[in-house]
Amino acid sequence: MRHLHPHVIWEEFLKIAKEEAGSQVVETWFKAVSLDAINIDRQEITLIMPNSFVSNWIQEHYHSLLVTHLKRLLNTASIIIIFAGPQTEKRNVEKPVDSTELNHLMPTFRPATITKMGSSQLVPHTTPTKPREQQPLNELYTFDTFVVGPSNSLAHGASYAVSQSLGTVYNPLFIYGGTGLGKTHLLHAIGNEAKRQCPDIRVRYETSDQFMHDFIRAIRFDKAHQFRDRYLSLDLLLIDDIQFFSNKEQTQETFFHIFNALYEQKKQIVLSSDTFPEEIKGLQSRLTSRMEWGLVADMQTPDLETKIAILTKKAEQHNITLDDEVSHFIASRVHTNIRQLEGALIRVDAFASLTGQTISLALAKRVLLNFNEPRPQTIDLHDVASQIAKKCGITMADLKSKNRNKDVSAARQIACYIMKKLTNHSLQAIGQFLNGRDHSTIIHAITTVEERRKADRVFAGKIQRLEEEILNR
Ligand code: ADP
Ligand code: MG
Repeated sequence: MRHLHPHVIWEEFLKIAKEEAGSQVVETWFKAVSLDAINIDRQEITLIMPNSFVSNWIQEHYHSLLVTHLKRLLNTASIIIIFAGPQTEKRNVEKPVDSTELNHLMPTFRPATITKMGSSQLVPHTTPTKPREQQPLNELYTFDTFVVGPSNSLAHGASYAVSQSLGTVYNPLFIYGGTGLGKTHLLHAIGNEAKRQCPDIRVRYETSDQFMHDFIRAIRFDKAHQFRDRYLSLDLLLIDDIQFFSNKEQTQETFFHIFNALYEQKKQIVLSSDTFPEEIKGLQSRLTSRMEWGLVADMQTPDLETKIAILTKKAEQHNITLDDEVSHFIASRVHTNIRQLEGALIRVDAFASLTGQTISLALAKRVLLNFNEPRPQTIDLHDVASQIAKKCGITMADLKSKNRNKDVSAARQIACYIMKKLTNHSLQAIGQFLNGRDHSTIIHAITTVEERRKADRVFAGKIQRLEEEILNR
């Protein structure tokens, strides 16, 4: 009989959701959800929701995404999804700072909702459920489980120092870096470590998105003051992915007051973002400058050794045996994102256990056949740029210039796309190379090329050949 690990299925779902709905959606809504049980005979699965807010949101917005893909992943004709509340025995439940107010703000928590193919009905579930106002800290994200290497040692060291003496060493601590490099992990690690040392401490972890949604909700219920007060009693505030505050004036205003009040009381603030403060578009300058008051620490792409060390650690955590050859192979297949590294490991392990084999190099190669191409270390931005300029019949100076001529812009966009794909450089670095363009311009260029590739096969072929030529140069 086929054995289905809920964990593996959920990981697969997350990957698909990321592609279809975007990584922000996955981070904000699905990351705190877990797939608890699969009952194939009854075509039923149970999802554990961290709180009512997330539960309702997911049911309202992502119901068909769940049904479509879980049906396919489980190979069933229909599926019943049970949305259950948090299992108190499994997770460490934080005391709400002000639960009465929260109950007021939150939609009534439906203890468990069962949905079948689009129709929803309320059915009580046996799991005891409590409303919870905030995202719990992920117990797996600790300093113990974090592998330190040259790419993250500054951010790690600063985080650890902060956890040892809140509010005194670096305040605020601002961590920035690309997706999947460990920012969220470090934020949770600070929270977990501070709590371990002093269990009574008031810690709050939020993504900026969650903060904003709560804030909007508070305004709607005329509770903006209470919203603010909830934060003022904290000892440690961790806000993840602060770049999403961009252009949210009112949210920024409130955050500014919270920031000031906490800072004055010497309470610790830790923020993360995908870029450094000044690069966050649409952020009030008084906020930007405050974010730079403490320490700004970056996280870089890990080198091969660090990737192997992380993989080894993850394998241990999942009770997976990997020999050196296999870890080396997997690590070399994943270029930047550590989350992908974990995904590759889980994929290899799932395949091995589904087919009853042990993990070997041959098996890993087969599973990761189309995962990522090995990337020569030697390609740099200049190589890509000069090849593309040559192919497109323009000069390097044109490519870097502000020239908006159609052909030049097109070549520049293709250059951005290929640079991101074939080199290890960050969006910022690419922007820098292209005469100080900002990273949102680079993202825009990359998206434009991606969309055109999907729509235009001739264009896609042209890009593919360009890539090959650059790789085989
Ligand atoms: P980010 O928030 O920067 O996008 P995350 O913190 O979510 O990245 O990290 C993605 C995954 O990679 C998580 O599962 C995390 O545990 C893991 N990870 C990242 N860096 C490390 C590291 N240095 N050691 C161990 N695991 C790591
Ligand atoms: Mg994150």
